Amino acid sequence: MPELPEVENVIRSLVNKVSGKKIASVEIITPSIVYKRTDFIDLVKDKTIVTLERRGKYIIIRLDEGNLLIHLRMTGKLLFNGEIGKHTHLKIDFTDGNYLIYNDVRKFGRINYLSNDELNIYLKTKVGLEPGLMELEAFKTKLMNKRGPLKKILLDQTVIAGIGNIYADEILFASGIHPLTETSKLKDEDYIILFDNIRGILEKAILAGGSTIRDYVNGDGTAGGFQDAHQVYGRGGKECICCGCTLEKIKVAGRTTVYCPICQRIR
Ligand SMILES: [Zn+2]
Repeated sequence: MPELPEVENVIRSLVNKVSGKKIASVEIITPSIVYKRTDFIDLVKDKTIVTLERRGKYIIIRLDEGNLLIHLRMTGKLLFNGEIGKHTHLKIDFTDGNYLIYNDVRKFGRINYLSNDELNIYLKTKVGLEPGLMELEAFKTKLMNKRGPLKKILLDQTVIAGIGNIYADEILFASGIHPLTETSKLKDEDYIILFDNIRGILEKAILAGGSTIRDYVNGDGTAGGFQDAHQVYGRGGKECICCGCTLEKIKVAGRTTVYCPICQRIR
């Protein structure tokens, strides 16, 4: 599923194409995609897109009045002039003849219209620290207040926003920390290593265009390249790149987790 680097790439691929465009009409093909709002079309029609922003795994389409908040979940895609098919659930037509579509095979994604105030409240209460902007002390405090395995905490979007299953495994491996480690066992230097790896790995993945595991593509249909740089994700049973021993596969918070039993010793 798209995580921070993939969502960032969707935005970067679309921002120049859709900013400044006026919305002529909106077609909702699958009503369940639009979150609890019957007046959605009236609210969005005739508005102009100001810009696109990202917060965690959310795409925010800033309109000249209000915002569209989009979560791609498992298989959502936002495509500029993309191919319309049986997985197209929403279409936004612009006055200049171009269009934006929302495609989603699994249909778990959601699009919501929120006023500026509603959006601010939502982001403040539901979305945690932004990796590229967070500071070490705030990061440390937030993690120290959480109980449970570290991987589960990294996946908690109210703690740090944007990390999913792929990048959690990669970050923990790069940090030499076992996914089941409790935060009470982390030393000061662990927090620094973890903090640096969260920012470093996400940034590298953004620059590589994100990871395409199944069918991720950005807003103009381009796949990512960071999957070739994965060290542990999807490599359970294979050799550790660092020590050569066999990578193990366990479930943490219901998610398949791959780690190296030597490089990431339990403490
Ligand atoms: Zn190893």
